[in-house]
Amino acid sequence: MLGGIFLGRNGPDHLSFALLIAAMVLSFIPWPYMFIICIALTLLAVGRMFSKNIEQRRKENLVLLRLVNNAKSWYYRISARRQQAKQYRIFKCPQCGQKLRVPRGKGKVSIKCSKCGNKFLRTT
Ligand SMILES: [Zn+2]
Repeated sequence: MLGGIFLGRNGPDHLSFALLIAAMVLSFIPWPYMFIICIALTLLAVGRMFSKNIEQRRKENLVLLRLVNNAKSWYYRISARRQQAKQYRIFKCPQCGQKLRVPRGKGKVSIKCSKCGNKFLRTT
């Protein structure tokens, strides 16, 4: 059983799996010294699994999980902005530079700046 081997040790975690997958993917890169990096990554992954410093390994794993979460929320922000761009046009107030969001497809409209009150005409 896996539990037996890893008793009192860190065991497999996300970061170790990520290192192993990175080693596999990188092994396809035709660079003569790439195998050294792949072996190093694999040893690092295996070393982490058998490490008894569980607290430290858990911290390292949390760093990875946080990075993944940041990447996810960045992606959602970008796609939400893209979605919004389909429905709205952004105009800059010619007077103060404030960015103003106006629904698309309304023809020529008078836009009032929310910051300085300046009015200007734009076609949406
Ligand atoms: Zn303005």
